[in-house]
Amino acid sequence: MNIQDYIRDITDFPKPGILFKDITPLLANPKALISCADQLVELCPEATRIDKVIGIEARGFIMGSMIAERLKAGFIPVRKKGKLPYDVNSKSYNLEYGKDSLEIHVDAIKEGEYVLIHDDVLATGGTAKAVCDLVEELGGVVVQCNFIMELGFLKGREQLNTPVSALLKY
Ligand code: AMP
Repeated sequence: MNIQDYIRDITDFPKPGILFKDITPLLANPKALISCADQLVELCPEATRIDKVIGIEARGFIMGSMIAERLKAGFIPVRKKGKLPYDVNSKSYNLEYGKDSLEIHVDAIKEGEYVLIHDDVLATGGTAKAVCDLVEELGGVVVQCNFIMELGFLKGREQLNTPVSALLKY
């Protein structure tokens, strides 16, 4: 199934010059939703056990939890500043359109656990790099950063020292 047909381009959102990749048509279609999660799991390295899947707020939560269920792994939310209730580690990062901080619970990852990081879009790579740093500071091992889409012209994968996989490349 070609999930590209279910990605909608929105020009100048959330600000002028950004071509926003809208995944809501994909989420709304039952066959596309299931196929997308199945295809993302096929990208995962088979040789390594994955203990935890991280989803990055907010769109990374959806496929991230579907991947975790398929891999029989735990799901860990990484959230924007001030949203997680327990003790957190924080990391600030640059976005394609702004600057922000991400947080993880201090007990989310145990030393030596194998972690897969998922988000909908890899753009400049600042977000995923911040999450890799959060995982590594807790002693986790990032086995892959996995995305529905990669905006290749922004060279985000050059920011990441881990394997990177995406279903669609623009
Ligand atoms: P970056 O840190 O630049 O790789 O940006 C990645 C984050 O911003 C992801 O959480 C994406 O959901 C979001 N994002 C960045 N650019 C876009 C885009 N053109 N369309 C949709 N989401 C985007």
